[in-house]
Amino acid sequence: MEKGLLVVLSGFSGAGKGTLVKELLKKHPEQYALSISATTRAPREGEEHGREYFFVSKDAFETMIAEDALVEYAKYVSNYYGTPKNYVLEQMALNKDVLLEIELQGALQIREKFPNAVLIFVTPPSAKEWKRRLVDRGTETMEVIEARMARAVVESAYMDQYDYLLVNDDLQICVDELHGLINSQHMRSCECAGFIQKMKEEIKNIVKGE
Ligand code: 5GP
Repeated sequence: MEKGLLVVLSGFSGAGKGTLVKELLKKHPEQYALSISATTRAPREGEEHGREYFFVSKDAFETMIAEDALVEYAKYVSNYYGTPKNYVLEQMALNKDVLLEIELQGALQIREKFPNAVLIFVTPPSAKEWKRRLVDRGTETMEVIEARMARAVVESAYMDQYDYLLVNDDLQICVDELHGLINSQHMRSCECAGFIQKMKEEIKNIVKGE
């Protein structure tokens, strides 16, 4: 393992990404860091500034864009969402795998800027189950739920742009699958240049009898 990876997690609103990420962090706190996004949307009940999001005004968000303080940003259902740059770069330098829970437009910007990033799309096992979760969550008005469902029609067209699909049926199984998937990314040969170099030299030396 040579440096932290960027891990993008997208999925329809209500696919269970939030819970998945929380569980992953709880199980492997030494490996992961979660990026907290900035957004112009209003906090939901129980959400705290600096924990779920940095809740900022439209003006403050546009200043961040102008100052190039975001690694990516997008407008999603009439609000801005973006990933602050400093935290992501700092944590990657500390060898942490940084989790970004972001939507499609942001995911594609990340792939452009960070070709080694891994893009994962989290999906519920079926559309029927997904609608049930979305309505049962009870955090949004029916109008907002409908806007998000309409948005999901667009997003479903891009599921195949992601590197991996992760079906969130049983939470614990899904957490372990996600962790395994990320770890296998670390073993891609392009991530292991230092190890490969060391092995080459050691093999040469051992053959020479050193
Ligand atoms: P929510 O309002 O439900 O918290 O989030 C709405 C959507 O915005 C979700 O798909 C979430 O993944 C996405 N999102 C959250 N933070 C960011 C971000 O920093 N950048 C982008 N592009 N999308 C984000």
